[in-house]
Amino acid sequence: MLQVIGDPIFHSKSPIIQTTMLNHLGLDIPYTPHWVKKGELAGYFAFAQANGVTGFNATMPHKEDLVPMMDELGEEAIRYGAVNTVCLREGRRIGHNTDGDGCLSSLVRAGMWPARQVVLLGAGGAARAVALRLAEAGAERIWVCNRTLSKAGQLCRLEPDVLSPAGFDRDTLTRLCAQSQLVINCTNLGMDDCPHQFEDFSFLDALPQGAGVMDLIYYPAQTQLLQQAQQRGLKACNGLPMLVYQAIFSLEYFLDRPLPREELAQVVFQVLEA
Ligand code: NAP
Repeated sequence: MLQVIGDPIFHSKSPIIQTTMLNHLGLDIPYTPHWVKKGELAGYFAFAQANGVTGFNATMPHKEDLVPMMDELGEEAIRYGAVNTVCLREGRRIGHNTDGDGCLSSLVRAGMWPARQVVLLGAGGAARAVALRLAEAGAERIWVCNRTLSKAGQLCRLEPDVLSPAGFDRDTLTRLCAQSQLVINCTNLGMDDCPHQFEDFSFLDALPQGAGVMDLIYYPAQTQLLQQAQQRGLKACNGLPMLVYQAIFSLEYFLDRPLPREELAQVVFQVLEA
């Protein structure tokens, strides 16, 4: 059995994505959501062992807490300081992180990559995986723009040759967008259960023609940021493709073999868009 754990968890799209892929591959492996609150991971590991769980995905609020609980960590999980995929093999816990690869694949699919200069909004867990993966993939400059500047500074110290901290005010965003081909929103602004929204979207006017705007959010499917980007003729992509691709990479870890990634992505998008 495979699972996804988190709090909240029952809204998660991971079960439908993974079940679609497992069915397509002809594998009779159940994949179910499991509600685990912060601080209850030890109890979950006991449950997993007793119930034949061979792997699980993790979402909020567990990704960072899982790191010290692993017997083995993939390079990306170490680099991002977070785990979103755990394989349970012969009593060992092996942690990986597929968020960065998921984001990069979704940018490629949307025709937004490569980009030399990037404005990245936010400096939380998702921003860390995205910033470090895009730096590794060849971005020349990524401005990490965050409300709390000190957190942007902390993140940028991990890759100072490529990452630069910046503020989140309109003038700063406008100045940096004028020098960038891609904006990625890694904040909660615009999310269904977030009470806050961008104060204004005029910074998008500074982006050059053909630039892209990606929002990691997929509830709602089209945030105001993406609507505003489309109104300006910019490319726009929500967070669903990232979720799908990170799931494909996770399944490769669970099954311990390469999979037909694009074929699986197609099948999943058909189901999600139905
Ligand atoms: P997180 O660690 O809590 O970080 C949240 C970020 O949002 C921080 O940089 C925070 O700034 C900023 N923020 C929150 N409220 C703000 C406001 N009112 N004004 C300005 N900035 C604000 O969260 P996370 O795990 O990185 O997740 C961020 C987003 O990515 C969420 O919407 C999540 O659903 C999404 N996500 C999507 C995927 C996917 O596969 N599509 C994967 C992971 C995450 P401060 O530092 O100033 O607090």
